[in-house]
Amino acid sequence: MKKTLLPLLLAALILAHGTASGWGFFGHRTITQIAVYELPATMQGFYFRHMAEIVRLSTAPDERRNDDPTEAPKHYIDMDHYSESNPFAKMPRQYDEAVAKFSADTLKKYGTVPWVILEMKNSLTEAFRQRDTMNIVKYSAELSHYVGDSFVPLHTTINYDGQLTDQKGLHSLWESQLPEKYINDYNLTAENARYIKDPQAAIWTTLQSSYGFLGETFDRASKIEKVMKPDVRFTFSHRYGKTTRRYSDAFAAEYEKEVGGMVDNRIKEATTMVSSLWLTAWQDAGKPDLGGMMTPNKPTKEEKEKLNTEFLAWKKNTLAQDQLLLAQQKVKKVEAVDEIKSAKDMTEPAAEAEDSPAPAAPAPAATTKPTAPLDKLKVKTKTKAGSEKTKQKAGSLEW
Ligand SMILES: [Zn+2]
Repeated sequence: MKKTLLPLLLAALILAHGTASGWGFFGHRTITQIAVYELPATMQGFYFRHMAEIVRLSTAPDERRNDDPTEAPKHYIDMDHYSESNPFAKMPRQYDEAVAKFSADTLKKYGTVPWVILEMKNSLTEAFRQRDTMNIVKYSAELSHYVGDSFVPLHTTINYDGQLTDQKGLHSLWESQLPEKYINDYNLTAENARYIKDPQAAIWTTLQSSYGFLGETFDRASKIEKVMKPDVRFTFSHRYGKTTRRYSDAFAAEYEKEVGGMVDNRIKEATTMVSSLWLTAWQDAGKPDLGGMMTPNKPTKEEKEKLNTEFLAWKKNTLAQDQLLLAQQKVKKVEAVDEIKSAKDMTEPAAEAEDSPAPAAPAPAATTKPTAPLDKLKVKTKTKAGSEKTKQKAGSLEW
């Protein structure tokens, strides 16, 4: 291989890992960037000056998942583990009460994202109180990440990758493939930041609405499966002797027609929640003067012009077309490497090959996702008419 390809390849690998969890780099970074445009002027200068860094760090929680075994459960909460019907009525909102009811171990196993968001919000408030620029940047980014995750329906279920309904790969299709491919069609103009009186309640409302989208997330894919043959549903990539399966562009195109509006909606809502929690943390800290934390303490002429260009593009919803999303620079590199459109040989690829992280970074820690006994698991696919239980197929529960 030519030497010049190496950085490209590495970028592709890093991204491939990132896209297996959360919104993917593209989604998280786009959400974080847009949240900056939704801030009031009193905060926007500071956030715009640090925007590149905050955007970049918004994917740090996914980047450390392989190294930190405590990280993975912070990104989701498998609500249907607690009950198949209205689990939100059974789950105490307060962490201590939830621990008393279900045990800390159980919460850890099935995910803690709502409490992690609160923790990050409180850390950000403290950083504002301390006027600690580094921590403001860090916790703004972290908060954005976990908030973003809470808007993804598949982060609220044990069937988080469609693995229990023979739809493995749905996770990255929904949260990475679709936004990366169809961002130009999405409307990214969203509401401005507003103060949130009760962040805990707001986070649970978010999770409940994400959970409410699950039925459609699975059912719309099933609808396409009924008319699209297995051998055109998937694309197989061979890298370093490993085969990875993902949904094909043809499937993605059909799925986009079915759920693209939902994906767009979740991105938009996420941006407003992120900016609102930033604003709330700042206000709860007594509205410290952010200009005093900047040198120079006002936006420069260049910054103003740049912000103005981006802000207008955001308002006109041309950020993506104008290539002004910071995430777009990365995504171009991911178009990878030696992908082949395959066919017959692999309608049922080996489970272990799916979603594998790059061989250079084997990921024992990435399997901290609960591996409940498969023969006992049931997952329901909710439909408007009611809920239909599907016995899932045994498959890899690798995250
Ligand atoms: Zn995540």
